[in-house]
Order: sequence, then structure tokens, then C-alpha cells
Amino acid sequence: MAATILDGKAMAARIRGEVAKEAAEFSGKTGVTPCLAAVLVGENPASEVYVRNKQKACELAGMKSVLERHPAEMTETQLLDLIDRLNRDRAVHGILVQLPLPKQIDETRVLEAVNPLKDVDAFHPENVGRIVQNRPRFLPCTPHGVQQLLVRHNIPIAGAHVVVLGRSDIVGKPVAIMLMQRGQGGDATVTVCHSRTKNLPDILRQADILIVAIGKANFVTADMVKPGATVIDVGINRTETGLVGDVDFDAVKEVAGMLTPVPGGVGPLTIAMLLRNTLTAAKLQTNG
Ligand code: NDP
Repeated sequence: MAATILDGKAMAARIRGEVAKEAAEFSGKTGVTPCLAAVLVGENPASEVYVRNKQKACELAGMKSVLERHPAEMTETQLLDLIDRLNRDRAVHGILVQLPLPKQIDETRVLEAVNPLKDVDAFHPENVGRIVQNRPRFLPCTPHGVQQLLVRHNIPIAGAHVVVLGRSDIVGKPVAIMLMQRGQGGDATVTVCHSRTKNLPDILRQADILIVAIGKANFVTADMVKPGATVIDVGINRTETGLVGDVDFDAVKEVAGMLTPVPGGVGPLTIAMLLRNTLTAAKLQTNG
């Protein structure tokens, strides 16, 4: 039987509506409009699309967005000065540095320079530490989108065997930590796989929930999926035939119980969660 397709686009629209309503209430009470500053360095076409979509989503939710656009030759010192200015600007509540940065700039130094209260991507070590300790200030946008997709579809997480394929700081590692935490939306038994994992297909086949984030088009095939499993495809790969995920969608949908599409799955939820974090940042900075 073919899998149920999990519609991330529709769910993201609902979450964006919820955030817009809360943002309007917050602005009504405080006179403050949440504002996201996006920093774009260089001319990476994919980054330009991502930043444009994030800005558009902010405006549709009644929030402000400002774009700091700079040439690829920008130096690290110039970028750190810019971050410092945005950190001190009381009208800016969230700072998003679109990755990747040009090679002359040390990404870690830049992400560490962002004020943790404005760190809406949750990449700063202080915010990562808080997530690990299960007392988050912000949740990272893509992992939070994945978690919401599971929770809002009533897919049991507690006690389930979740296998995460990929161990990046942006997706694999935080999603694994969030789903293993004690409490609502967590309590899973989590296995993390990567490029050095032995017997990968055997481990993937044990997953009740399989989360894939490796950046390899159509890598996960039907024989790697347990019948009835929930498969969340985070991958975004540009191919000659358009955008595809890390999961071989057509074949896996015949085996999985539930499956996210690419596009229209996790991607839109990532943006919705960024709006949620921008509103949280504005509240934290307004209420002290
Ligand atoms: P990274 O390139 O940072 O990490 C990839 C991970 O996959 C690494 O841990 C790597 O292992 C592992 N890996 C690579 N090849 C294999 C393999 N053959 N077998 C097993 N493991 C492998 O990727 P990201 O996490 O940043 O992104 C992953 C995908 O998700 C990309 O397609 C990206 O575009 C997409 N993405 C989508 C988002 C969304 O909003 N939907 C947001 C962020 C990312 P090792 O550590 O051993 O090298």
C-alpha cells in the first residue's frame, strides 16, 4: 500500500498563521514589531532564494525584515563589525547569517559573534548547550520542523526507534538530541548514522522513524526501509530534473507508512520555525 504523504507546506501555512496571530497580539500590547535581519554575503543563487523566501514569510506574518547584502570579497572583520552593529541595534530582534560564507571568513567565529538572544538559527554554542541540557531558548529551525511534523501528525515518538542518517551540526546532530530528550516530542531511542557507519542498510531497516539529511540525491532506496516506517526526507538536491530529496521517493512510497515529499515537506517548515524563533526573540528582548 502506498505511503501517506506528509504535507509540510500545508502544515507550515498553519504554523505561520499561528505565529502571525501571536505576533499581532504582541505588537498590539507592546508597540514592538519583531524584526529579522538577514545577512547575505556573496552571490550564491540558492542562498538568494532561501533569504528571499524567509524575508517574504516574515512580512506575511506581520514582522519586519531587513536585508544586509554584501559582496563576496567582504572580509571577516567587516562581517564581524556588521554583526556587532546588528547585536546593538534595538530594532533588530533576530539575526540570520545565511550559510555558506565565502572561504576567507571563518563561519564558527561569525556564528559565535551573534548575540545568543538574537540567534534565531540556534547555532551559537550557548544555545546549542541549552538544547543539549533540555532547557532550550530557541530550537534549530529544521530539526524543530521535523519534530513538529511528527508531533502534529500524531506519529508516536516516545519509545520509537528513530534512525538519523547524517550528523551535521545543522540537522542530524540536533534532531537526534531533541528526539532523545525526556518529555513531549522526545523519548525516542535514537541511532545516528554517517559516512563511516558499517552495515548501513541493516540499521536503516530497523527504524520506526527514519530521518535522512545527507545531501545525496535518491540515496535511500526501498530495500533500506522497514515496511510501514515513517520517512522524513530533509535533503534538497538540485538535479537536471529539478529538486529531489535524499530518498528515492517513487520507490520508497510503496514501502513506507508515511513519507515527506521534496519539495513541500521539511523545507517550508524550516521557514515557519524561523518565524516562531523571531517572535520568541522579540518577546525575550522586550520583556527583559
Ligand atoms: P552536511 O553535508 O553538513 O552533512 C552530511 C552528513 O551526511 C554528514 O554527517 C555525512 O557523514 C553524512 N553522509 C554523507 N554521505 C553519506 C553516505 N554516503 N552515507 C552515510 N552518511 C553520509 O549536510 P546538511 O546536514 O547540512 O544537509 C543535508 C541535506 O539536507 C542537504 O541536502 C541540505 O541541502 C539539506 N538541508 C535541508 C534543509 C531544509 O530546510 N529542508 C535545511 C538544511 C539542510 P560524515 O559526517 O561522516 O561526513
